[in-house]
Amino acid sequence: MTYTTPPDCEPGLAPGSAPVCELGGDQAGFATRAVRTGHHRTFEGEHGEPIFTTSSFVFGSAAEAAARFAGEAPGNIYSRFTNPTVRAFEERLASLEGSESCVATASGMAAILAVCMGLLQAGDHIVASRSLFGSTTLLFNRYLSRFGIGTSYCDLSDLNAWDAAIGPQTRLLFCETPSNPLTEMVDLRALAELAHRRNCLLAVDNCFCTPALQRPLELGADLVIHSATKYLDGQGRCVGGAVLGDRKRVGEEVYGVLRTAGPTLSPFNAWVFLKGLETLELRMAAHSQGAAQLADWLATQPGVTRVYYPGRPDHPQHHLVGVQQRGGGGIVAFDVQGGRAGAWSVIDATRLLSITANLGDTKTTITHPASTTHGRLTPEQRAESGIGEGLIRIAVGLECLTDIQADLARGLVLLPGT
Ligand SMILES: *Cc1c(COP(=O)(O)O)cnc(C)c1O
Repeated sequence: MTYTTPPDCEPGLAPGSAPVCELGGDQAGFATRAVRTGHHRTFEGEHGEPIFTTSSFVFGSAAEAAARFAGEAPGNIYSRFTNPTVRAFEERLASLEGSESCVATASGMAAILAVCMGLLQAGDHIVASRSLFGSTTLLFNRYLSRFGIGTSYCDLSDLNAWDAAIGPQTRLLFCETPSNPLTEMVDLRALAELAHRRNCLLAVDNCFCTPALQRPLELGADLVIHSATKYLDGQGRCVGGAVLGDRKRVGEEVYGVLRTAGPTLSPFNAWVFLKGLETLELRMAAHSQGAAQLADWLATQPGVTRVYYPGRPDHPQHHLVGVQQRGGGGIVAFDVQGGRAGAWSVIDATRLLSITANLGDTKTTITHPASTTHGRLTPEQRAESGIGEGLIRIAVGLECLTDIQADLARGLVLLPGT
């Protein structure tokens, strides 16, 4: 759907009439919009956002039904593509990303698929960063390839490699920054400029940073993709996603895929994400602060040979923190001595941290990328991506830092050479 800044108006209006916004307009600050934008109060005068659990909507007359179906009159039709709770989430997220349009989807993967179906066709080519979420790589290689869309991969931070990989058929550049698990970054302003110089669109999967830390559209990107499952929810409850961008590409092309093919977000999940957005800025600040402190502590631990965290001066793209990214984010990776056996012994010694590949939760999670999220890569591909057997990834939650440290210290002291 497409949004304009709602006008100031009175609460208690009839449903479907002019939107209610109490300071929720784009002139308000980020935290205010995260709490207020998108709720169009109904005639019931409710304070919290309602969940519209209805599959369809009724029309006042046959003529009104016809006008809505034809797109000539505004209003709800059917919850595959028009639901007020889902729209509230879309509007709030659009405001936070600084976007004209937002389309919510059933999952983060559905968001990526909807972008490709809406904006690409057979014969088109994608250039993507090598270090992508595993299912994204599979979607490109195994499924889009069947429909005549090829993908090439390059190093995320190397702009010359992006330039060299772009060919006459390339339509879309796709990246995640910072990357998973090594937190590598790309200069988004420079990449967007390159994309436009070569007649391509730039799509950024902004899952790791969220708009609280990074707003790719302001840096020149054309599309932002979210797995709302992660930090937007923030408490590991629901699966969902979103696509953001301009009215033509997202409000019409991507929305058209959703309306027709139906990878729709449920109203309940949209409501959970609305609540998640209300605490997003606070949580991202706390995740970033915890991760920064944990990274510095890890760097002093015997048995730890390298720490990867954007907020540390030894990170190769540290200069981008504070320029395109407010804070280092909640993900820390580190290498330990002893290869796979060493990494597994640290993971298995934990009693508090959750051994799971998920991230973006209040609960801290610990992962061995080489044997889980990146286990489907060949050893050569892993080596090329810098993902060693001794690498551990932590998505720092909101527990007490001292408890997280104590949980890790139990295993770190067992490592060879310590
Ligand atoms: C989890 C994730 C996805 C996929 O999202 P789902 O909601 O699980 O479908 C895409 N990109 C990144 C970076 C992710 O972490």
